[in-house]
Amino acid sequence: MENPRETHMQNRKGRRLILFPVPLQGHINPLLQLANILYTRGFSITIIHTQFNPPNHINYPHFTFHSIPDGLLETEASTADVIAFHTLLNVSCVAPFRDCLAKSLADVSKEPVACLITDAIWHFTRAVAEALEIRRLVLRTSSVSSFLAFAALPFLPEKGYLPIQESRLEEPVQELPPLKVKDLPVIDTRNAEDLYQLLSRMVKETKASSGLILNSFEDLEQFEMARCRQEFRIPIFPVGPFNKYFPASSSSLLAQDQSSISWLNSQASKSVIYVSFGSVAAINEAEFLEIAWGLADSKQPFLWVVRPGLVRGSEWLEPLPNGFLENLDGRCHIVKWAPQEKVLAHPATGGFWTHSGWNSTLESICEGVPMICLPCFGDQMVNARYVSHVWRVGVHLERKLERGEIERAIRRLMVESDGKETRKRIMHLKEKVDNCFRKGGSSYRALENLISYISSF
Ligand code: UDP
Repeated sequence: MENPRETHMQNRKGRRLILFPVPLQGHINPLLQLANILYTRGFSITIIHTQFNPPNHINYPHFTFHSIPDGLLETEASTADVIAFHTLLNVSCVAPFRDCLAKSLADVSKEPVACLITDAIWHFTRAVAEALEIRRLVLRTSSVSSFLAFAALPFLPEKGYLPIQESRLEEPVQELPPLKVKDLPVIDTRNAEDLYQLLSRMVKETKASSGLILNSFEDLEQFEMARCRQEFRIPIFPVGPFNKYFPASSSSLLAQDQSSISWLNSQASKSVIYVSFGSVAAINEAEFLEIAWGLADSKQPFLWVVRPGLVRGSEWLEPLPNGFLENLDGRCHIVKWAPQEKVLAHPATGGFWTHSGWNSTLESICEGVPMICLPCFGDQMVNARYVSHVWRVGVHLERKLERGEIERAIRRLMVESDGKETRKRIMHLKEKVDNCFRKGGSSYRALENLISYISSF
């Protein structure tokens, strides 16, 4: 891993890049990782960000930051309805973003700007970039397979797949193998039309961009990458997984509880199941209790991230029955937020029970940790299908969330011979990641191409 601060000034290219992250943890992490990658390759970096969920400037003394008013009222600054949230921000940020970008472009005290790089969700930035005559590249932070599924979603109601009907859940979606109807990346929102609108505009404005940067690698999604190239006739740069270059910890919005590591230090090799459902997913109290009892009954040690807000209607651990934790006799450690990559890299960690967010999935693959998947919404459904049925590096909790099922899934992964095979497959995938970064490997080449492409502007 490189230290961006150690990159010598004489290696600077005399060109600046302006990046604009979507203000959610799973989007901020890859965008700032990409910014660091491009910084170490000689570009100067300016980050424009919303007031909501600002990145921690202190961890990036080598970047210039500009905060823009996002216009969110207190009641709107919530991820309970992410589609409403993105739809609103794509309107309220237009004027402040345009003004900020125009000022940055006109700032002669800084290097000339080579291009703008925005999250694909910021579809409004295409018109702004065009008006200000600046090239715009797009970063899509999800897997390629889920990006294709999102792109197809607005056309699925007319094919009868949407809205999803209970009786058709197990049916394959002919247009999107290997997905079943229940895997479609639908996201609940107050108005389903908002979802289709947002996705259509994201796809349209990505197609109109100068290039698409992907946090994935060829060997992982070869077939999907080929389909993506057919559908999006723009230069595509699969340079991921970004976390192989830089950890996500410096862009963590919450403090990472380091007691996770001291607790892991006292556990046997590959014995611990690490449980985390990311920064947005929420569950109800009954689900929380089934998870708690399933973990307890599995008899495996577990490190559990219970983020405040994870359980709807609860502050934190109140729904746990009296004496639950005491009865586990030190077999569990619960934190509000963990140093996830360090946890996954720890020799005591033997499995990852995840919500199948894309960053978590990549981080697990990079450390060779097999998964239990409990997708909650959107792209997580697609990622879980690929983890369990395409790469076969995890177990999918597809049926009712019930303590007996959970206990069996954990034991299958952590104790039984099935789990050993799964672990072998993910170790093999981990090797593929390592290879794609070697000289001549696919991500190595994609990054070289990206650098020369941007330098040519
Ligand atoms: N993460 C973390 N500590 C935790 C849980 C998650 O630092 O306790 C990080 C994790 O390493 C990943 C990101 O938060 O980089 C979560 O992104 P992901 O795409 O997996 O899920 P999302 O939060 O977007 O649903």
